[in-house]
Amino acid sequence: MTRGAPSPTLQPGDTVGILGGGQLARMLSLAAASLGLRTNIFCPDDACPAFHVSDSATIAAYTDKTALQNFAGRVDVVTYEFENVPVDAVAILEAAGVTVRPGAVALEKAQDRLVEKQFIRSLEVATAEFHGVDDLAGLDQGLQNVGRPAILKTRRLGYDGKGQTRLTEQDIDLHASFEKAVAFAWAEVGAAPSILEAFVPFEREVSIIGARAADGAIQLYEPIENVHAGGILKTSTAPARISAATRAAAERATIAILEALDYIGVIGVEFFVLPSGAIVVNEMAPRVHNSGHLTADACAISQFEQHIRAVAGWPLGDPSRHSDAVMENLIGDDVKAWRDIIREPNAALHLYGKKEARPGRKMGHVTRLTARSPAK
Ligand code: AMP
Repeated sequence: MTRGAPSPTLQPGDTVGILGGGQLARMLSLAAASLGLRTNIFCPDDACPAFHVSDSATIAAYTDKTALQNFAGRVDVVTYEFENVPVDAVAILEAAGVTVRPGAVALEKAQDRLVEKQFIRSLEVATAEFHGVDDLAGLDQGLQNVGRPAILKTRRLGYDGKGQTRLTEQDIDLHASFEKAVAFAWAEVGAAPSILEAFVPFEREVSIIGARAADGAIQLYEPIENVHAGGILKTSTAPARISAATRAAAERATIAILEALDYIGVIGVEFFVLPSGAIVVNEMAPRVHNSGHLTADACAISQFEQHIRAVAGWPLGDPSRHSDAVMENLIGDDVKAWRDIIREPNAALHLYGKKEARPGRKMGHVTRLTARSPAK
């Protein structure tokens, strides 16, 4: 590869730099290896799941300018496995002459829930009603605007249901007054800049894993149906139980997002499906996505390979699914069932190599396959 090219196309043997060293980076690294590419994982923690399966590691803070510059000199393109990478880190990498895919714009939009919702609305795609909240008075005003029940979420650094709290009639009864319930909710989010969202009475949740290549070509995996417990994804199922019209609307929204961001790589877009079949975007993740893990076993080309192909400047693969699949996350002590799971037929077990099974921690997943059901 010609280093510093604005639109790099990697050759086998070249190196993909990955910011973040969790299970997503681990699975990206495995996919890169299958394609003859190397990886260098940049992670502040010296015990990252991705280090076990990468060619090289850079252990440094995302704010360490010198480490970022050295990293830029050792890799041929950079991508990331999580959306909370500081945008400044991307700027430092780009100034050092390496291309970052997807770029800073996608990160900026996805890092702030308020900016993200405004962006989605600007594409004429529906979101929950929302109100930016900077203080208690703003929360009060927000509740008048969006109504109850509502969910208060921090604008930044929330994930897996963290940094959010609900405001329902029961909460108000529990706290004996509206004022106390509101003050409690505000304290729960750490009095940080937040967004108040109307609670969406959804029938189900689905996601689309989409990909856009350097030449603008787009491929979408079929919608996947997701069930959350306590704000954390529990299962993902394909096919999703939605109509052709709902699927088409979710696909249109995903394509609009990919194009508006001039995106290169895989994106996960989460939707609420209303009883009418209408869709509402919950959020987007500018990276491979937990709900797309089933693509590794149910499709010839996984979301991980698809992302590596895109960031390498290669053509995208065919996202079609050959089997029906249910992916179950193994969270905390769930992972103890691995000895039973490994004996199940048609069950693909993936363990992330994390030492300690803390509550709420994603330790692995299993994807159970069955014959593909006839298309409806
Ligand atoms: P989030 O971290 O925003 O993806 O939220 C995690 C989960 O909480 C979602 O997948 C939903 O199950 C639920 N949730 C979040 N926001 C809303 C909302 N506005 N209305 C209903 N449920 C929500």
